[in-house]
Formats: sequence, C-alpha cells, structure tokens
Amino acid sequence: MPLFQWNPLFETGNQRIDDQHRKLFELTNRLAHAVQNGENLPTLAVLVAELRDYAATHFCDEEQLMRCSALTHREIERHACVHASFIEKVDEVAARTDLSDEEATGAFLELLITWLVTHILKLDRRVARALLERATAPADDDMSAEQVLVAALMETEKRFRMLSDEAPSLIWISGASGRRDFANKPWFDLVGAELGPASAIDWSGFVHPDDRRSYAACIADVLANGHTASLEFRVRTGSGEWAWVREKISPRTNRGRCIGLIAAATDVTSIKQSEDLIADASGRLEREVSERTLQLQQLALIDPLTGLANRRSLLEHIDADVVHAAGHGDALSLLFVDVDRFKRINDSFGHAAGDSALIEVAGVIKGSLRGSDFVGRLGGEEFVAVLPSTGLAGAEHAAETIRRKVAEHGFRDLDGGVTVSIGIASLQHAEDGAALLARADHAMLRAKRSGRNRCCAAEGEDLDRLSA
Ligand code: GH3
Ligand code: MG
Ligand code: MG
Repeated sequence: MPLFQWNPLFETGNQRIDDQHRKLFELTNRLAHAVQNGENLPTLAVLVAELRDYAATHFCDEEQLMRCSALTHREIERHACVHASFIEKVDEVAARTDLSDEEATGAFLELLITWLVTHILKLDRRVARALLERATAPADDDMSAEQVLVAALMETEKRFRMLSDEAPSLIWISGASGRRDFANKPWFDLVGAELGPASAIDWSGFVHPDDRRSYAACIADVLANGHTASLEFRVRTGSGEWAWVREKISPRTNRGRCIGLIAAATDVTSIKQSEDLIADASGRLEREVSERTLQLQQLALIDPLTGLANRRSLLEHIDADVVHAAGHGDALSLLFVDVDRFKRINDSFGHAAGDSALIEVAGVIKGSLRGSDFVGRLGGEEFVAVLPSTGLAGAEHAAETIRRKVAEHGFRDLDGGVTVSIGIASLQHAEDGAALLARADHAMLRAKRSGRNRCCAAEGEDLDRLSA
C-alpha cells in the first residue's frame, strides 16, 4: 500500500503539471517504501538531482500557468516564494555533512511529505480552481461541438464577406424567391445605399425602367430552368446617373434542386461609353466616307469647267433614255450643239475668255430647256441635249430657241457675238444611243456646211431646216 494514493481531485486540469505531480508522488512513495522496508535507497546524489529537476521544470511551468489564471499578482508571488523555499530546503539538506545517508534520505522524505500535503494537495488545487475560473471565458478547447461549429461558420461568413467586399465584382445571393438576401459592399456603394441587410432594399427599383422587365424575366428563367444567364442592364447610381452593369446569374442547387441564385456583375459603363464612342466615330466615318464616295462619283460624272454632265455621264444617260423610250414606245430627241468658229474666239480673246464663253453657252443651253431635259458637254465646244418624250417638231423648236438665245446673248469677255450650229435627231425604230448621236452629229455638220448659226434635222427625217 503506497503512502500517498493519487486522487483525481488532485488534478489541476493541466496534463503537464499533473504528470509532474504524479512523478513526485511516485518518488515520495518509493522513498517511503524503501525506508519502511529497509530496502536499498537511491544515492543522495541521484535523489538531489531528481528533486532539482522536478523543481526546475515543474515550478517554471506552474508559475507560467498561474500568470494565465485568475490568481492575483500577490498570490502568484507568494506561490513563487514557496517554490523557492522548497529548492532552498533541498539544497540545505544536500549541504549537511553531519547527516548519514539514511538520515539525509529521511530528511528528504520528511520534506517531500510536507510538500505534498501542504503544497500540492492544498496550494496547487487553489491554482487549479483559479484556472477553471479563468476558463469561463471560453478558450477553443473548452468549447462545445456546437459552439465550435457556430464559430467556424461565423469565421467563414466573416471571411466570405471580407473577400466579397474587397472583390471588384458586384455580388448578390438570393433564396428560391430570387429576392436578394445578401449583397456585397460594392453593390451598396454603387447604388449609394447605406450598408445593412440586403433584404431590406428593393433592388429592382435601381434597375432602369426600360430594363426592368427583361431583368425580372431573366431571373425567373434561371430559377425555373436552372441554367446560367448573362445580361446587361442599367442601374441608377448614388449620384443619379445610369451605370451599365454586365451580370452573370447562376442557380444555387442542392441535390439537383434550385434553392436560389448567385450573381456576379461588373460595372461596364466606361467600356460601354468607349464602345458608343467607337460606334459613333465609325458611324460618322462611314457617313463621311459614303458622302465623299458620292461626291467623287458625282465629280467623275461632271464636267469641271461648265458643271454640266461630262461625256461619260452624257453617253450613259443617252443610252438609258433610249432604252427607256424604246421600251415605252416613247419619243426621244437629241440636239447636237457646236459653237461656231470657236478656234477664232480662242485666238482672238485668249483661252480664258474662250473658257468663260463655254460656261456662258452651257448656261444658255440649260436655261433654254425644260426641267425634264438633260444636257451635257460631249467635249471641246460641243454640247448635247437629251429631250425625252419629244418628237422632231418639239426638238426643232427647242433647238431654235437655243440657237437664238446664244446669238442674242451678250458674252462678257467677247466683242463679237457667238453663234452655234445645232443638229437634231429623233429616235427611230431599233436605233441605239450611238446611232442616234451620230445622226445628230451629222445633222450638225450639215448645219455648218449650210452656213453655220443654223439648226438642221438629221437626214431621213423631215428636213425642216430653220435659220436665223
Ligand atoms: P467650227 O465652226 O467648224 O466648229 O470651227 P471651230 O473652230 O469651232 O472648230 P474646231 O473643231 O476647229 O475648233 C474647236 C476649238 O475649240 C479647238 C480648241 O482649241 C477649242 N477648245 C476645245 N475645248 C476647249 C476648252 O475647254 N476651252 C477653250 N478655251 N477652248 C477649247
Ligand atoms: Mg466642234
Ligand atoms: Mg465648232
């Protein structure tokens, strides 16, 4: 039967301290047993070393533990003094040379018994109680499983909120109704709402009225069909402006069932603005290019000196009108106008005066015709007028008007008068534009040969020659 029986009541709750106490119990019991039964005793040196070792580790641990307990500073100090006195007593016995080994061992046994009774069984249990008191503010290892789970959940929630609040995305989460029960800080910041429960805010009120229907339809679709959707919509910001948001909405599922939504969005206003600017610029550029192209096309068809249709345009027009008139059984006539003795005008008054005379002749011809007629410069001092729905008589009349008006016109830079000779040709059956033009040309040459300043109908037609 050991001298000291270990009892759970002696436990401080700290494994390390309790192990050290147990060790001291065993040492004391071993010594007592040896003394009682006259067995071999440990050498004094071993005993002293064991006691010093105990004191060095145990006292250090225990004092550290006390500093974390509910004990007052005074109590800790007192306890530390007791520790110190134990070491002093061990040293004192070890230093006594007047004692035999048995006497010294007896003295150590006495010291240990007193120590166990007064210190471990009384003082250290007071430390244990103080430690328990301190533990009412729960440390991790004192928490129940439920508390641990709740704490872990809270920590996870805290981390998620930190992460989502710092994220550059706008994030919200909803239950199966689609109504947000979580929105991260960037959402509150964007709409200028005070941070609080997301469910207290009518988020759809921030969506642009024109986008509200499509947004609600998209949410309903994701909830119903469980697939992810992306869309763009406008959100009213805290400053009252509209921000463009590009959002991806995904279903949250549990065992295949949609239990809510999670959505992440990006503010794409600046991207949209750049896109709009680019679209505007490219639209403007396209318009400018098509305007310029049109101008170039028109320039390619216009005679730069007189502003009338040029040769190419004129020939195209004759062909088109011939086809149209032939197709409709309609009449069509051409007037081939050639300025008389124009070389002389150039020679007498200079090329520039000749140019302005050509411009004035063009003006007189155009001014003499109907709006539906067409006139172009074939080249040099030659002009052709195309008269739709006009037979020979009407054409001769128009030719005579032109001839007369040119002859009566007072040319700015010229002393003498300017006259023209005009050939007239009316469209015949199965005739093309080139043939019609050639006959008008021939008629004009005949007018020249007849003395100039004349109008002459093409051969084969009613040679109704008109002269001044
Ligand atoms: P005709 O009565 O027989 O028609 O005599 P003409 O001198 O008018 O005829 P011709 O064909 O011999 O001469 C035409 C002249 O027109 C020759 C050319 O120098 C001149 N001419 C052609 N184009 C222009 C132009 O753009 N400006 C000027 N100033 N003269 C031109
Ligand atoms: Mg000529
Ligand atoms: Mg001429």
